[in-house]
Amino acid sequence: MKSLNVGLIGTGYMGKCHALAWNAVASVFGDVPRPRLAVLAEASQDLAERKARELGFERATGDWRRLVSDPDIDVVSITTPNAFHPEMAIAALEAGKHIWCEKPMATKLEDAERMLAAARASGRVAALGYNYIQNPAMRLIRRILEEGRIGEVNHVRLEMDEDFMANPEDLFTLKSEASSGHGALDDFGVHPLSLLRALLGGVRRMCGHMAKPYADRPVQGGGRRKVETYDIATVLMELDNGASGVLALNRSAWGRKGRIFVQIFGSKGTVVYDQERMNEVQLYTVDGLKETQGFRTILTGPQHPPYDRFIPAPGHGLGFNDLKIIECRELMRRIGGEKAHLIEFEDGIRIERTVDAMARSAHEGRWVEVAAGG
Ligand code: NAD
Repeated sequence: MKSLNVGLIGTGYMGKCHALAWNAVASVFGDVPRPRLAVLAEASQDLAERKARELGFERATGDWRRLVSDPDIDVVSITTPNAFHPEMAIAALEAGKHIWCEKPMATKLEDAERMLAAARASGRVAALGYNYIQNPAMRLIRRILEEGRIGEVNHVRLEMDEDFMANPEDLFTLKSEASSGHGALDDFGVHPLSLLRALLGGVRRMCGHMAKPYADRPVQGGGRRKVETYDIATVLMELDNGASGVLALNRSAWGRKGRIFVQIFGSKGTVVYDQERMNEVQLYTVDGLKETQGFRTILTGPQHPPYDRFIPAPGHGLGFNDLKIIECRELMRRIGGEKAHLIEFEDGIRIERTVDAMARSAHEGRWVEVAAGG
């Protein structure tokens, strides 16, 4: 595998997370060449230079177009707000770069479809930032399902709640503007849907409902502006495998900080996961003595790969940023021509089509179908 020259666009929450992953991946895994952190792009030259020093990049630019057209760059991390993804991703793919673009693909389905077409035409790897599927706990759950430990799955309940939009007196931001997308569905819903896709497959029929907890928000300098996006969404689902499901999302859920709650019910047991306790899996199975049946907590450890690459001791736990390091290694393996556990545009588009159908269903107040597999 050849060493990769990396370009990073954006250095906010996700930009720093990508930078940490590129810095750490070779040290953690020991089986991929150390990437060269070549160029970092930010909204201004000053900010780019400061961030390049902090995050270990050789060069800095205030113009992302110079980064994507730089012949030195092999792969581009795109970590800017959603509305920027289509233009940046398509330009990078057309310049022959591999890309690692944050979720969701775009704020409109037609833009996501254009991104997919560009990826297909380029023949380059176009991966998405769906880090939660990388948790060793998720791989364990997949094994539990594949081995039939909870029997045939008949119902799934997926919830994602955070409280960063919970205060009605917080200022109006881009997240409340229709140009940013539907709201909780695309900002949030894509994450539990990525877990669903990695564990069980897609959704074929859905009936959605979206709500605005607050009609307006204060604007800088006085006055209030009407909220255009939906911070709450609830969807009834029929999955490709015939099971029923519920997706419940809330960006204004006081007290919830990073909750992705997954319950999978089967004919012989139940498996439960909560992202706020990301190193645990709860498993209930009907085997054994009835008197001692009950949920058991399985703590992740070196027996759940690739936990062992980070820490030799069980129960000490991985963190959110570690999931990005695992995703980075999967991306490098994929670019190197190996099979990898990643959500690329070909699968990502199915999540986008599902979200689009959910929003249509909510607006039209009826069940909507998508083609099998999205
Ligand atoms: P953020 O606001 O913290 O960071 C965005 C960055 O982009 C900022 O540093 C900003 O200066 C930079 N930027 C804006 N315009 C630019 C331009 N023209 N050129 C270069 N840089 C520019 O946002 P965030 O929370 O990091 O979100 C970024 C993306 O990551 C979004 O797509 C979001 O959906 C996604 N995200 C993913 C996860 C995850 O778990 N995978 C978590 C949070 C956010």
